Amino acid sequence: MTARILDGTKIRDEIFAELKRDIAQLAAQGVRPGLAAVLVGENPASQLYVKSKIAACEQLGLASWLHTPPANVSTEWMLQLVTDLNNDDNVDGILIQLPLPAQVHSKRVLEAVSPAKDVDGFHPVSMGMLVSNRPGLVACTPAGCMEILRRNKIPIEGANAVVLGRSDIVGKPMALLLLHANATVTVCHSKSRDLPGIIGRADILVAAIGRAGFVQADWIKPDAAVIDVGTNKVTDAAEAKRLLAHFPARLEKFATKGNVLVGDVHPDAANTAGALTPVPGGVGPMTITMLMSNTVKAAKLRRGVAAADESKSQPAATAR
Ligand code: NAP
Repeated sequence: MTARILDGTKIRDEIFAELKRDIAQLAAQGVRPGLAAVLVGENPASQLYVKSKIAACEQLGLASWLHTPPANVSTEWMLQLVTDLNNDDNVDGILIQLPLPAQVHSKRVLEAVSPAKDVDGFHPVSMGMLVSNRPGLVACTPAGCMEILRRNKIPIEGANAVVLGRSDIVGKPMALLLLHANATVTVCHSKSRDLPGIIGRADILVAAIGRAGFVQADWIKPDAAVIDVGTNKVTDAAEAKRLLAHFPARLEKFATKGNVLVGDVHPDAANTAGALTPVPGGVGPMTITMLMSNTVKAAKLRRGVAAADESKSQPAATAR
């Protein structure tokens, strides 16, 4: 393996330590930031995600509340809950765990969240603030990717950055963050032509398409920094063998567990890229980290308080 590994777990620990200091300073001013999570129904994956988010709040000393309406909840009921949370002065961040059941109008519910409490950064107002490079709450996964780049001192200014994927929650905000950091940004999607040629010119590649091992190792420019956002659960033995032929220990794990997590970049990129986020353990831990960071940031912005040495302790991406 030749690529430098960009360890998300290590960065999560660094940011958590900074947030703990911030939260202690806020506590000294009588402020305890709080996150309200809304989990509809009993989707096991969603339950697991929300559990980890609440656990992170507890680890950091943030207040948290969990609302668990049943799967047959109506849009009107959800809108009333969001209104109540918007009006609750103890609540700094509102998290609506997606997906919502089909009968619930997801867009209406997400757009009802007060932009001041939009810690997921999904609200059109938050997106607009990002487009115009004004301070606001930025979607957690792309904000986390920026932390990985910055804290590993990967040069962004003037770099050719390629973002593979144009979703509202990852690709688009990612492209904007890189643009504001003065990269020259190309955004690719399913209709883009000559992906190997475009990717081959990238100093920074962010892959977020949801296709296991799609980006081939030999497409990547030597020395490129690769941020692999993809988290694909591979359950097919032949596919696992094709992707992990050079990683016998991971193949052995697959044989026992029956599944393995693979990113959107072929694992062999560990031998061609200059630096690479592992899957798991790269971007994954950053999403919850930035949710915590956004909750603290929302508390400061909304309550008009600043921690004593804010300029030193605030994570780089939230200082936008
Ligand atoms: P999404 O909403 O499904 O968007 C996928 C994007 O990829 C679309 O823009 C699509 O293009 C593009 N795409 C699909 N197939 C392509 C292909 N063959 N060539 C080029 N572009 C292609 O996905 P998402 O929500 O952004 O998530 C992307 C991946 O990131 C998923 O694996 C997801 O699980 C992962 N993820 C991880 C985290 C984390 O915490 N680690 C957080 C969020 C997402 P079109 O627009 O043309 O359809």
